[in-house]
Amino acid sequence: MKRALTFPKLMGIPVSIHWTFTLLIIWIVYSNVRAGLNAAQIGWMVLFVLSLFLCVTLHELGHALAARRYGIQTKDITLYPIGGVARLEKMPEKPVQELVVAFAGPAVNIVIMLLLTPFILQADLQPAGSEEVFIINQSNFLAMLGLLNVWLAVFNLIPAFPMDGGRVLRALLSIKLSRVRATEIASVIGKVLAVGFALAGFYLNPFLIFIGIFIFLGAHAENEMVKSQSFITGLTAKDAMMTNFISLDKQQPVSEAVKVLLDGEAKNFLITSDEVPYGYITREDIIRGITQFGENAPLENICNTQLQFTDYTTELNEVFLEFQKTRTPLILVQRQNKTIGLIDAENIGELILIRAARKGSSV
Ligand SMILES: [Zn+2]
Repeated sequence: MKRALTFPKLMGIPVSIHWTFTLLIIWIVYSNVRAGLNAAQIGWMVLFVLSLFLCVTLHELGHALAARRYGIQTKDITLYPIGGVARLEKMPEKPVQELVVAFAGPAVNIVIMLLLTPFILQADLQPAGSEEVFIINQSNFLAMLGLLNVWLAVFNLIPAFPMDGGRVLRALLSIKLSRVRATEIASVIGKVLAVGFALAGFYLNPFLIFIGIFIFLGAHAENEMVKSQSFITGLTAKDAMMTNFISLDKQQPVSEAVKVLLDGEAKNFLITSDEVPYGYITREDIIRGITQFGENAPLENICNTQLQFTDYTTELNEVFLEFQKTRTPLILVQRQNKTIGLIDAENIGELILIRAARKGSSV
């Protein structure tokens, strides 16, 4: 993932801004210029958006610090134009812990709102500009920031995945039910709400339709994920790895890869350099390689060198999440820094299907 900016670590957690964020700022400046605002007014607006995202960062930091209390580290916090994401190593599975971690984010926004309440009460919040454009200036800046924090807290507490409220709901349900069942119910409630939002969008504001779609997909994905994970709970990387896999040297020509591709079922191959793992190629890389470099070119030319490694004792659930997050087609399994096997994204999918079939359930 490309990033535009990485800040010094915030309480030990790297914070970065996704490059698409600059598009948001450009869009704000552009639309405000078109609306006829002057430079000072646009400056206030940009400062306002940056402050808002500072609040979003603090919200994510709230999740991260709550998770840290339970020994769960946060890999990083990334700000996207639509909000922030704190990448936790994993979600706590104990209901009370999930409840605390999920609540910690919106709680930060409520605290900010309380701190800014005096400004909200004092400010004159009648639109100062034309009807479509609300103009931010020094007299209403803090009041508006306070009000938007209320919105951030409320929006995040909508009881549907991927919002924090969805996790709160699941955590409450898991006190009495299994995690899989609790997720299933929370996911259905989320989907019903999503349809409600979309329908309301037709009458009120088209933006709600997007929120509805976003929630529906999030609710669906979370349920699939938890269900899939439940089938491989208790397994480790060692249980899913292949020890018989094809590897090719980076000096070998593309034509060798074509041969092994046509010969067998495998679609992803490990590339080595002096018998040490160097990178990987996929079926798509091979096809692209033929047209771009020709069949005699060395595999080095088409090789992806970002290899992912995991220890053989790592829980398979964690490996599964890594596949989901990084979209890598294969992960190498190591034991005392020696590669002993390979897990293919498809393998893990098949393993889930087989274990689901044995339990008489479908994924
Ligand atoms: Zn949150």
